[in-house]
Amino acid sequence: MNKHTMAAALLAAGLTLGACGGAAQPAATTQATTAAATQAATATATQTQGIDYKALVNKLNPLPEGWEDALETVKIKNSLGDDVEVEKKAYDAYLALKADLEKEGVHVDLDSARRSVAEQQRIMDEFTEKYGADYAKKTVATPGYSEHHTGLALDLYLNIDGKDVYLNEDMVQYPEVWAQIHAKLAEHGFILRYLKGAEHITGYGYEPWHIRYLDDVDLAKQIAERGITFEEYLAGKDAPTVSYNLEGSQIFSAADLEEAAVQVKCQFATFAGCELHSLSFAGDASNSPENLAKVKAHDSSKEYTQVIELTTNFHTPAQGSDAFEADKEIEGYQWWLAREDGKGWQLITWGN
Ligand SMILES: [Zn+2]
Repeated sequence: MNKHTMAAALLAAGLTLGACGGAAQPAATTQATTAAATQAATATATQTQGIDYKALVNKLNPLPEGWEDALETVKIKNSLGDDVEVEKKAYDAYLALKADLEKEGVHVDLDSARRSVAEQQRIMDEFTEKYGADYAKKTVATPGYSEHHTGLALDLYLNIDGKDVYLNEDMVQYPEVWAQIHAKLAEHGFILRYLKGAEHITGYGYEPWHIRYLDDVDLAKQIAERGITFEEYLAGKDAPTVSYNLEGSQIFSAADLEEAAVQVKCQFATFAGCELHSLSFAGDASNSPENLAKVKAHDSSKEYTQVIELTTNFHTPAQGSDAFEADKEIEGYQWWLAREDGKGWQLITWGN
């Protein structure tokens, strides 16, 4: 599999691109040239038992049972020639959003939307067979636990000056365009799902393109105004303040530290019910030969050249969990990451 195909497959797999997936692959789709956005919609599904438009699906909460039977979708082709399937009402709302944006000279299209659990399982099996279970688990979203299963999660891409812009690394070059798009979401019943800096809550890095339909304009407005994630809204909480202390390194750049912090926050998102209070860089002394030897002991096949330690303080859930005692402030919890020359950080081990 070449790099291009690989990236396409990763995208199809619902990889948490460049942030929580552990692989900084761009979201390539197919070869793209044409800008003609002809979208012929054809209704498909039939049943109308209804779905819960406010269902939470994330790394901890699976797609509700019976969802795929109740789901009604439309299938369209985007300007890249890819097939895209979207829940019916979400598609109507998307068309209204798109038309609204066009009045401001902003052009968007749909990269991917619904992916069935069976399709996700097929990708997981394929990756497991080709690259092994560890790699597959790291890079492919667990079948049943992707918001894209709902048909209500849409990945947008941009058309700038007549050219399709769909690679993640290119799309993030247009923050002002995304700001225009984000400002219009709520009035069409959408929210931005993976907010900047909320990896420890959503389990995903910032994705300006991933929007979620809620079928409720008032609710979408409320969430957007409060600047919180859907998880926080459902938990009845405001965004907790996290204190970050990621400065003072003579070895690592601010971007290095931020990249390591995102990895930690993504993993922390799997600590069910825990609330992050602080995230700190433990200092340059952690990049020592002894620590390098320790991380190499975890995976001797890797040529790690640098190691970094971050620490976190967090609060455990009131009712306790398998891993933690109830309602306790945990301080100085350690996270070890390492990297090879020219590669990204790998989270090696954590604990206290
Ligand atoms: Zn997405």
